[in-house]
Amino acid sequence: MKVFIDGQLVDKADAKISVFDHGLLYGDGIFEGIRIYDNNIFRLDEHLERFEFSAKALMLELPWTRQEISDAVCDTCRANGLENGYIRLIATRGEGDLGLSPWSCPKPSLIVIADTIALYPPEHYEKGLKIVTVPTRRMNPAALSPAIKSLNYLNNIMAKMEARQAGALEAIMLNDHGLVAECTGDNIFVVQKGAILTPSAQQGALKGITRDSIFDIAKDLNVAISEHELTRYDIWNAEECFLTGTGAEVIPVVALDGRQIGNGTPGPIFKRVLTAFHRRVRREGTRL
Ligand code: PMP
Repeated sequence: MKVFIDGQLVDKADAKISVFDHGLLYGDGIFEGIRIYDNNIFRLDEHLERFEFSAKALMLELPWTRQEISDAVCDTCRANGLENGYIRLIATRGEGDLGLSPWSCPKPSLIVIADTIALYPPEHYEKGLKIVTVPTRRMNPAALSPAIKSLNYLNNIMAKMEARQAGALEAIMLNDHGLVAECTGDNIFVVQKGAILTPSAQQGALKGITRDSIFDIAKDLNVAISEHELTRYDIWNAEECFLTGTGAEVIPVVALDGRQIGNGTPGPIFKRVLTAFHRRVRREGTRL
């Protein structure tokens, strides 16, 4: 496997960064998870825009144009002969001294890893996930905007461990007001009275690229969709529930906190959305 680091494609064994990189010392950096389907990098431009927005929020000046980053992503896929898989794009603050100050790091590093991906086990796409709500809350925007896809994912990791302790593969994280924000690595949607609802970024949802595509799909399918405040009660009593994410794609949820959702099987709107999503992923984006 070849990994892109700062303009070079190197063997996996040589893909190393400094222990003085603030990405390692402080989680000071940003990332994107991107999918490639049959040589089509799904919504690459949208990922690169979010990458730039994350950088801007952290005052991390990227010394590369969007085209250069896009080329790095495409070159890494080509070098690995990757037609289908998962791409991890990372920018770290770069090498500095042991202090916090980002201005001790003159040069950010750009890393691209292109690999295969393990989705949730296939039976969950057919039967649906049973998830739980966990105690760890989504990042309070007054502390750090949850819209930033930073290298600091610790509260999501805490939530993921709590999910596992409860025997679930994914979990709902509430925001500091107790409203549903999203899951540890996925956005959440419910269907109520035939309309699709999802929490807004203000409620702590990451502006997911897959989430965005669900808005376009719903419009195509003539299904109403809007952002809405959601409580756990709203999800227990929804007709349907599903999650979206670059890794997960679109996956149904059939129970939350031991309450069955709808009739306990993946619902008709989920199925229509999933079919439309599978059609789109090979169409929208950047061809290798
Ligand atoms: N929420 C969180 C916290 C995430 O990390 C992710 C992606 N990994 C998502 C939602 C889904 O976003 P996307 O569709 O852009 O992958």
